[in-house]
Amino acid sequence: AAKKSGHDAVVYDPASDRASDQNLSLLSELRQAVERNEFVLYVQPKIALSSTTVIGMEALIRWVHPERGMIFPDNFIPFAEKTGFIRVMTRWVLEQSAALCGQLLAQGIHLKMSVNLSTRDLLDQDLPNKFGDLLLRHDLTAASFCLEITESAIMDDPVRALQTLERLHAMQVELSIDDFGTGYSSLAYLKRLPVDELKIDKSFVMNMENDTDDAQIVRSTIDLGHNMGLRVVAEGIESVVVMKLLAEMGCDQGQGYFISRPMPAAKLADWISQWTPPALH
Ligand code: C2E
Ligand code: CA
Ligand code: CA
Ligand code: CA
Repeated sequence: AAKKSGHDAVVYDPASDRASDQNLSLLSELRQAVERNEFVLYVQPKIALSSTTVIGMEALIRWVHPERGMIFPDNFIPFAEKTGFIRVMTRWVLEQSAALCGQLLAQGIHLKMSVNLSTRDLLDQDLPNKFGDLLLRHDLTAASFCLEITESAIMDDPVRALQTLERLHAMQVELSIDDFGTGYSSLAYLKRLPVDELKIDKSFVMNMENDTDDAQIVRSTIDLGHNMGLRVVAEGIESVVVMKLLAEMGCDQGQGYFISRPMPAAKLADWISQWTPPALH
């Protein structure tokens, strides 16, 4: 199930999944990667679209393999989820994210850190306790974090996922529905989830300047989110035209390559000090 891609990186291919030697070696490589500190925390800035100020960032994991170079999460996260190794990775990402928040706060930079959770994380009944412990150890409040979950992660086991989400929400952590519009959750279900933010999937955003269907989907999703009292975020902003369109549509926040590609966490403070927002009016 692990094969080589054009970039010579390990690729997990669920279509040919079986208990192969290659699977075992990928798992042992992931374990080693933790011991050898091969994971790197990348972050992508998130801005308020009305003021174009930087208000947050999303944590995105990278694996810098000693021989194969940079490996992107789509090539190992699905495998990590399947094997349960994702819990180790999530802990690592939360730990690094909390440390970064602390460092930024010490420099007077207040940003909300968005962290991606997987299905397995939502089914971990101990997650809220672990998260509370993390905040204590790093002297942070829950307001420093937003946890992103996908519709499909919730629908895997809605009852248990809802329990975890409600406990996290009771701790004042913000929750976001990621990749909105690509999953299969019903709107009735969405109504019952204790979420604060809805994140429109980049597949609708990237080409909305040319595709009127995409633009209509984005517009309707912004209105839907607002009518439900949610903050709406667009990911995948790749041009100033799309950024302006979203601002006109009243979308609250945005992220994308046009603003910044994900960067190593250590570079964020410098990037912020140099950020010159484009004129939107
Ligand atoms: P996601 O959560 O939907 O993250 C957004 C992805 O879109 C990121 O890819 C980001 O680099 C990319 N992106 C951001 N702006 C643009 C843009 O303007 N255009 C385009 N084409 N792409 C853009 P990345 O970093 O490769 O991550 C892929 C996925 O892997 C993430 O999708 C998320 O589902 C997962 N992932 C990444 N880091 C973590 C993690 O720490 N934990 C978990 N559970 N999943 C993670
Ligand atoms: Ca995300
Ligand atoms: Ca997304
Ligand atoms: Ca995704």
